[in-house]
Amino acid sequence: MKIFISADIEGIAGVMRPEQCSPGHAEYQIARGLMEQEINAAIEGAFMGGATEVVVADSHAQMTNLRAENIDARARLVQGKPRLLSMVDGLEQGGFDGMMFIGYHSAAGEHGVLAHTINGRAFWRIKINGLVMGETDIYAAAGAEHGVPLLLVSGDDVLQGWIAEHYPTTGYACVKRAIAHTAAESLSPHEAQTRIRKAAQQALHEISATNTTRITAPYRLELLASRPVLADLFQLVPGVVREDGVTVSYEAQNMQTLIRLLSTFSYLATTQA
Ligand SMILES: [Zn+2]
Repeated sequence: MKIFISADIEGIAGVMRPEQCSPGHAEYQIARGLMEQEINAAIEGAFMGGATEVVVADSHAQMTNLRAENIDARARLVQGKPRLLSMVDGLEQGGFDGMMFIGYHSAAGEHGVLAHTINGRAFWRIKINGLVMGETDIYAAAGAEHGVPLLLVSGDDVLQGWIAEHYPTTGYACVKRAIAHTAAESLSPHEAQTRIRKAAQQALHEISATNTTRITAPYRLELLASRPVLADLFQLVPGVVREDGVTVSYEAQNMQTLIRLLSTFSYLATTQA
């Protein structure tokens, strides 16, 4: 059984401030260590549940958070960027039986610890086919196109409610209670890792052929930029339609195209920092 793990940092127990998520800050070195431990817990739980192969996609910021020497030697690491499938790149290699999203967070415009979608400075809100989409939703849809169900998500209690509502067959490991965008009550690292390990093991026992996506092709992206100057840039990409001062739209037949477009938008936005 082959399992794909996508690793983010904002939903890790003990993480609730932007500085903890930004390479260069002293706090980041502690946070990436906690992230590594939660990823190792998921890897271990997956193998305990019967996995024979685990691939981990390091998926935060520069996508080079996990130090290879600290990660369970049984797993393979996808690291660095740019990547066509971004947070789930490697999935297109095929043969995966399920995905786990560890350290994930709520969508831009929603409640939850460090809630954002892909680029917190540039994207105010992302909708596809009329539905608000967070990273969980976007990459679950990409997984569905490859026939890979979302088995487990970890993060705060707000995302837990979202997953329960939209992905009833997906397991959840809750590691903190959201108090504010930058405040949380976290489990200890040890307890968070224990929960993730158990939930990962259990998730593999309960794999069914469920299709875990909220949307199907064709896709219509509607993106609200945080400032008009960003929408000015985004509409330079052929096919992008300017809807109003801050809104652009785009139509695509598959999720990889939308993920590539969102990565391009995010890179363009860095020119207006
Ligand atoms: Zn992140």
